[in-house]
Amino acid sequence: MTEAATDILRVRNLCKSYRSGDTRLDVLRGVDFDLAAGEFVSVVGQSGSGKSTLLHLMGLLDAADAGEVVLAGTRIAGLSAARRDRLRNTCVGMVFQSYYLLPELDALENVMAPLMVRHGIFEWLTVRSAVRARARELLDRFGLGGRLHHHPRQLSGGEMQRVAIARALVTQPQVLLADEPTGNLDETTGAGILDTLCELNRADGLSIVLVTHDPVVARRADRIVRLAAGRVDETCPAAERKAG
Ligand code: ADP
Ligand code: MG
Repeated sequence: MTEAATDILRVRNLCKSYRSGDTRLDVLRGVDFDLAAGEFVSVVGQSGSGKSTLLHLMGLLDAADAGEVVLAGTRIAGLSAARRDRLRNTCVGMVFQSYYLLPELDALENVMAPLMVRHGIFEWLTVRSAVRARARELLDRFGLGGRLHHHPRQLSGGEMQRVAIARALVTQPQVLLADEPTGNLDETTGAGILDTLCELNRADGLSIVLVTHDPVVARRADRIVRLAAGRVDETCPAAERKAG
C-alpha cells in the first residue's frame, strides 16, 4: 500500500517490549513519528528511553510487537524476510556509535560490502568495477582518498565513522539512520561528522534520523523529537527550522 510520497518514514502506535525471565520491560508504548523526505530530525531521550530500539525498528533490524512502520511507502508488517532484507538494503543506510566496520576488510572493501551482499556472485563480477568507483568517490568526498586500503585498526575514530557513513550511502538509500554517531568521538571530530550529515541533508536532500542523548548535537537537526515513558513527548518544543 502506498503512502503520501512526502513521508519517507511513518511510524504508528509502535510498541516493543523485552522479556527477561518473568519480567516484561515495555520500552516503546505507542510511538508515532513521521519523517518527511529531505527532513533531518533528531531523536533525544534519556539513556534507556528506547531510542536505539526505535531506530532498529525503523531500520528493519528488529520487529515490533504492535503498530506499524511504513518505509518508502511500503508497510513492513507481513513482508517476507527476503523482501524486508531487500528493502533495508535499498532504502536505509545505518550508522552506529561503534562503526561496526569489518576488521578484515580495508576501507574501500568495507564501503563496497553492502552492494556485494545485494548482488549474486555472477552479477557481482559484472558490477564490481562500477561499485568500486562509487565507493572510491564517496571515500574521496569524505576526505579519505588517501586511506582506501587502510584497515579499521589503522584509522582514527573520525575516519572510521566517515568510512561507515560512506558504506551507509553506497546503496543510495532514501533515509539515513544514525545512532549516537558522535558518541565515541571527541568534540571537534564529532562536530566534523555532524557537518558531514548536515551537508548530506542540505546538498543531497538525504532524509536523516539522528539519535543522540546530547542536546547540542540534537540541535543540528531541523526538528527534535523526545522519547519519554515509551512515547513521543508532545510537550517537547520542536527546534526552530533552520533557514535555507
Ligand atoms: P536508549 O538507546 O535510549 O539508551 P535502548 O533502546 O537501547 O535505549 O534500550 C531501552 C531499554 O530496553 C533499556 O532499558 C535496555 O536495557 C532495554 N533493552 C534494549 N535491548 C534489549 C534486549 N535485546 N533485551 C532486553 N532488554 C533490552
Ligand atoms: Mg542507544
